[in-house]
This record gives sequence, structure tokens and C-alpha cells, in this order.
Amino acid sequence: MTAVLTGETFESFNPATGEVVGTYPVHTAEQVEAAVAKARDAAAWWESLGFAGRAERLAAWRAALAKRMPELGAVITEETGKPAGDAQLELVLAIEHLAWAAKHARKVLGPQRRAPGLLLSNQAATVEYQPLGVVGVIGPWNYPVYTPLGSVSYALAAGNAVVFKPSEFTPGVGKWLVESFAEAVPEHPVLQLVTGLGETGAALTKAGVDKIAFTGSAATGKKVMASAAETLTPVVIEAGGKDPLLVDADADLDAAADATVWGAFSNAGQTCAGVERVYVHEHVYDEFVAKVVTKAEAVDAGTQYGPMTMPAQLDIVRRHIDDALAAGGRALVGGRDAVGDRYVKPTVLVDVSEDCSAVREETFGPTVTIAKVADMDEAVEKANDSAYGLGSTVFSKARGMELARRLRTGQTAINAPLSFAGIASLPFGGSGESGFGRIHGPEGLREFARPKSIARQRFTAPIALTSFARSKKTEAIVGKLIAKLHGKG
Ligand code: NDP
Repeated sequence: MTAVLTGETFESFNPATGEVVGTYPVHTAEQVEAAVAKARDAAAWWESLGFAGRAERLAAWRAALAKRMPELGAVITEETGKPAGDAQLELVLAIEHLAWAAKHARKVLGPQRRAPGLLLSNQAATVEYQPLGVVGVIGPWNYPVYTPLGSVSYALAAGNAVVFKPSEFTPGVGKWLVESFAEAVPEHPVLQLVTGLGETGAALTKAGVDKIAFTGSAATGKKVMASAAETLTPVVIEAGGKDPLLVDADADLDAAADATVWGAFSNAGQTCAGVERVYVHEHVYDEFVAKVVTKAEAVDAGTQYGPMTMPAQLDIVRRHIDDALAAGGRALVGGRDAVGDRYVKPTVLVDVSEDCSAVREETFGPTVTIAKVADMDEAVEKANDSAYGLGSTVFSKARGMELARRLRTGQTAINAPLSFAGIASLPFGGSGESGFGRIHGPEGLREFARPKSIARQRFTAPIALTSFARSKKTEAIVGKLIAKLHGKG
């Protein structure tokens, strides 16, 4: 069941059972604007706390999240259907990111000296990164804590207040997060919740926030950007992917097969940086495919991963499998019958034409295509032939770094699946249809801050350039100096 509008409220469902698990208000544009106005006052207080004051309060929130993981995990499971272990994994990663953001904010964003250059050596140059003010975060349902917190934690650590609109499929998780924050930081509503469907998200893009952080589909990302453009509100867009995994002739095939199966099927494939396409060197193709088939057959939909959280996704997954099979592809595991009413069983597709929807569009389900390549140049070429550019994985003993650098994606994991997502110091984001901008790491902190440059004069310059008192002699000296300094090329 999808969320259903009942007048001024909507209901959220357990996708594993169809049972109603909560009723939430549909916030109107006026209510969203009021939340942003309240956030503006809260932002001033939050900024005034400084890095240390904010770090202390974010540590209190972090401790609450860490202590109450089973409780929040149960809400995640109820609204997404994912197993408790997967809910915990998402929380573990989110907590690590929150800790990193709070700990490193001062170092990354605090005042830094810059070299003033020879001509202006009488100046002291510094840059510091000031908060933007109020950040609007529009979150998805697939990792309803880890993904929005990738923006929320970094925006808060950078000194902003946040208004958070969770997906209509996971409003309960959003509410839990915001209430737990309010217990840790009771003074002002620094993190607020607005709930509703797409219109509430659209209202947030027009409500006068200083930045929108959006995670979801590329199609909605474009709408968000168009709407934000009306007020020149900047956006960071994380819009999914069609992530490739490359297997070189010298790869550890057991590890590569394990990473393929987990990367493709965990969370029912509803992972923006999940493995959707695999390109394998012909020398090891047969052996690798046999290993993937054995491992995929052992994966149990229902215990090792949950249902499709968004029912409409079932039709997309079915269409992609149908297209692949109609174009001569073969399902070695699963296939058309793998798509049930709520769950999709693991599906491994081979011999799929590269122009099929199963290879070109984001499937967001537990399916994977595997293709044979003559060499790793062909693998890189095919991997890069995509409208998306989010993540990628390489299994290779000798050429991991080289192949990783050639892949046109925001991040690449070598010899392990999705490792970049758990390393808080690494920025995360994409290009093309995968969006732009970065969350996580120093880049993620700076995404939610405004660089402020300050040049402070320490003493009067012997050569006055920016004055009507500038003499012809000064001009001649400077001209000669620059020609000498830079004229040699
Ligand atoms: P959407 O992009 O439609 O939704 C993402 C978020 O945007 C939700 O909070 C949604 O609210 C909100 N939203 C919807 N319409 C608007 C709007 N006009 N203005 C502002 N916000 C809006 O994704 P879906 O959840 O419908 O999933 C569709 C596809 O997106 C999936 O099939 C998958 O391919 C991809 N996806 C990618 C994700 C990723 O991690 N990058 C995550 C989730 C989905 P509401 O839910 O209330 O409609």
C-alpha cells in the first residue's frame, strides 16, 4: 500500500503486511513557511553556540541514537520492512557520520590562513565557513535515517537549523529523529519536521530556505531544482545511480561474487549506490557467474532482505526483467516469476543487450545484469556509458587504483562493496543524472556553509596600487616586477 491522503492527514503502512502504522499531518505551504520562520530564529541561537557548544549538543543526540538503536530500528523495520540487522547497519553508519561531522566541523570550517601573495604581502588573508542559515532536507525512504542524516548531521554541525521533510513512506522515522533531537537539544527547534506528500516537499523548496538537500529520483530532483531556481536557492541533489562492478582477470572471485550478491540484493536492491551492472573479464567470466548463481540462490527474500518499500517499484522491476528477457537475455536466477506482490526474489540476468532498460535505467530492485568483456578497457568503457555517475566497484589485484580513477563516478570501492559509504571522511555524490554536490566529509560540511574571505591590512604597503595617489613610478615598478615574475612562462 502506498501512503493515502485522508483530508489533512495521510497514513503510512508496513510494506511487509499492508497494515497501517501511523497517521501524520499533511503540512500546507503556510505551515512549512511557519516552520522555516521558526527555524530562522533557532538558527541564530544555534550559530551563537559556536563549534564547541554545537558539538556538545550533537554528542548528546548521538548518545541518544546509540543507546536507543533497537527502538529506532523497530520504527525503520515497521515502515520499510527491512530486517533488524539492516536497520541497525544503517544506524551504525549514520551515528559514525554524525560523530565525524561534529568532531571535524571546527577544523574544516573554522578560520584558515591563506597566503596573500607578494603584491599584497602587507595583508593577512583568512577564510572561514559560516552557516547558511536554514537548510531544507527532503529525504527518501530506502535508508530513512542514514540518507537524510548524511545532510542533516553535516548541516547541523556547520551551524544551520534544518527543516526536514521525510518521504511519505517513512514519516514515523522522521518524527522519531526530530523528537529525539528535541530531547537532546530542548532550547530551540533547531531540527524540525514537516510531513506530507510531494506537495509538502515542493512547498519547502519555495519557503525561503538557504539551501535544499534532496535525495530521491532524478525526475523529482529536476523539479526541485526548477522550483528552487525561482528564488536562486542553491541545491544539492543525490539522485540515484546504475552502479557498475568490474571484475578483472586477477580478482578474488569469491570476494567479487559475494560483493555482487550483497551489493545487488541487500535492502532488496533499494540502494542508490547498489550494484546493478557487472562487467567481467572473459578469462574468469564462467567461474565468476557460477559463483554468483550459487550465492544468489542461497539468499532468502523475506529474511535477508525485506519487501519493496514502494509498491509502484514492483512494476519497474518487472518491466526491466521483461525487457531484458525479450531482448534475448537469460535469467540464471529468478526472472519474471521472481516479482511477487510485495517481495522480489534475487534475479541474475546475463546476455542482456546494453541498450535494455535493465542496463540503462535505475532498477532499484534485487536484480543484477552480468556481461562478459574482452578486457578491462571494454569494462571501463561500458561502465562509463551511462547517464548516471554515482558509485562503482572494482575487483582487481593489480589494477584497482588505475581502474577506479578511470570510472566516471563520484566514488569507487576497490575489492569490497560500498566501503566508501561508511567512511565519514570521504565525500559522497554523483554527476549526470545522479545529481551534483557532495554530502559527507569536509566537502559535505562545506556544502552547508558559505565561505567568508577576510583580508586584514597589517601595515601600509610601500607600493600603493589601489589609490589615486598611485604614481607613474609605482606603475612602472609593478609592471617590471610582474613581467620578471611571470614573463618566463
Ligand atoms: P521521489 O524522488 O519522488 O521522492 C523523494 C523525496 O522527494 C520524497 O520525500 C518525496 O516526497 C519528495 N518529493 C516528491 N515530489 C516532490 C516535489 N515535487 N518537490 C519536492 N519534493 C518532492 O522518489 P520516490 O520515493 O517516488 O522513488 C522513485 C524513484 O526514485 C525510485 O524508483 C528510485 O529509482 C529513486 N530513488 C532514489 C533514491 C536515492 O537514494 N537516490 C531514494 C529513493 C528513490 P513523498 O515521498 O512524500 O512523495
